Amino acid sequence: MQKRILVVDDDNMNLVRTKMILGKQYDVLFAGSGIEALDILQRETVDLVLLDIDMPKMNGIETFERMKKFAAGVPVIFLTASGHKDDVVSAVKLGAVNYLKKPFLPQELLKRVSQEFEKQ
Ligand SMILES: [Mg+2]
Repeated sequence: MQKRILVVDDDNMNLVRTKMILGKQYDVLFAGSGIEALDILQRETVDLVLLDIDMPKMNGIETFERMKKFAAGVPVIFLTASGHKDDVVSAVKLGAVNYLKKPFLPQELLKRVSQEFEKQ
């Protein structure tokens, strides 16, 4: 079965780009906000979440805290713009093991995602 990845980002261009990179190998779902992501996670089975940290209203950290209550087993890779070190520290404290700095190269993203699936 194809692995399913939920990509959460308020930047639509980044969603489209990420889908282009991952879409050949994986089943990719999108969410444009934290709320939308939580809604999808309540309805769908997802194998991995790529979660933007910097989003309006509900940021990635808060989204992660909320999803842990009902989808604790789903691994998360945070997406962070470089220079936002505090965000990364918060994410790591919350138990996120992985993050990827934006903008990332396609091969970096593919490598990080496949590494995550090798652990499962
Ligand atoms: Mg953003």
